[in-house]
Amino acid sequence: MANCAIVGINWGDEGKGRMVDLLTENYDVVVRFQGGGNAGHTVVNEKGKFALHLLPSGIFRDGVVNILGNGVALDPESLWGEMCDVMEKGVALTPDNLKISDRASLLLPWHRRLDELEEARLADKKYGSTKQGIAPFYSDKYQKKTVLAGELFYPEELKKHLLSLMEWKNLTLTGVYGASPCTEEELEAWVNGACEKIKPYVCDTGAFLKTAKQEGKNILFEAQLGSLRDLDYGICPYTTSSNTTAAYAPIGSGLPSAKIDDVIGVVKAYSTCVGEGPFVCEMFGDEAEELRKAGFEYGAKTGRPRRVGPLDIVATRYGVEVQAATEIALTKLDVLGYMEKIPVCTHYMLDGKVTDNFPFPTALEKAKPVVEYFEGWGCDISGVRNWEDLPEAARNYVLYVEKAIGCRIKYVSVGPERDSIIIRN
Ligand code: GDP
Repeated sequence: MANCAIVGINWGDEGKGRMVDLLTENYDVVVRFQGGGNAGHTVVNEKGKFALHLLPSGIFRDGVVNILGNGVALDPESLWGEMCDVMEKGVALTPDNLKISDRASLLLPWHRRLDELEEARLADKKYGSTKQGIAPFYSDKYQKKTVLAGELFYPEELKKHLLSLMEWKNLTLTGVYGASPCTEEELEAWVNGACEKIKPYVCDTGAFLKTAKQEGKNILFEAQLGSLRDLDYGICPYTTSSNTTAAYAPIGSGLPSAKIDDVIGVVKAYSTCVGEGPFVCEMFGDEAEELRKAGFEYGAKTGRPRRVGPLDIVATRYGVEVQAATEIALTKLDVLGYMEKIPVCTHYMLDGKVTDNFPFPTALEKAKPVVEYFEGWGCDISGVRNWEDLPEAARNYVLYVEKAIGCRIKYVSVGPERDSIIIRN
């Protein structure tokens, strides 16, 4: 079987976790290859309802090995907290089913503080960070000013390394922000606390993946957020600080030689966006509130109400291209059941002209949505499992979207539960 990446096509929260949880049935290994604990994948299965932040969504399947690759922002404290939550609900986590790359860089105690301090300094110009330290972490990673998880096995060298980083970082904390410095005791408590807890799971995951590939194992690459949040191709500066695209999966996973055969792009049947930045198709007022409530659109990490809008064809087509998606999973189609007419943002108006092209980030602020309406189906479709059993209007909506975004919709999700899915052959 082929290697596969499951990625977001839009602003994130498309339902990737739900798709990974479903499709891991066919895979031996699931690798998270980028991002940190700053977003959430919600998974509902026979073990319960889980909000995963860093743990791969294959963690619930017996026999599946889950890997946190070198591309992730590895925050030992939040990861250990998440591991405890999952274990409390009866999911076994052992070094056999969870492996952390020894080449993953650690999110250090000051990264979250720096995120908070910078968002406070920006005040009304803030980016809408979840304040999990992700941007300061990735900046420092690329400056080579973090430590690798594997350094936990070299305590003496680690101590020296951390103290020299602390000396450097305290210049910023105290000098730039006027905040209190980080202390040696804080660092020690961090190393002896969360770091010790996750240490048994740290290993050479690159070697593990190489062997898995040689043995013909099926590998699933799991992304966080979506195309429009990609550091290089997204809505800069309202992106995340890593590459959310499938093309980054080989690098961030620890298997640089991997060839990704299938890219499943996850698209929600309408649009949502968390945080600041241009969101051309945004709905407001009662119409927005109704959709938000129907889709329960509140952030898994922060509880923040998500901004909502109709499906944005311009942004979605762009997202499909960026991900080089080979097939699409369209999620939450059931949510639109209450609408008489379904709005879709089919084009943008920019400088008085209709356009199908996704604009340069600066121009995006000026773009206006062109909205068309499609016939609604006006009923609950959450129990439907076959394509032919969907109301005709729902099928027409899916077929329209498929054509407009230029990629086959293979999966139609009609509920959060694992089996609430229609698979088109
Ligand atoms: P992710 O980060 O891309 O995994 O997405 P989130 O977990 O943040 O958001 C998706 C939300 O929608 C979760 O609460 C899921 O349980 C839920 N969900 C996923 N697919 C469906 C669906 O087809 N219908 C409904 N009603 N909910 C869904």
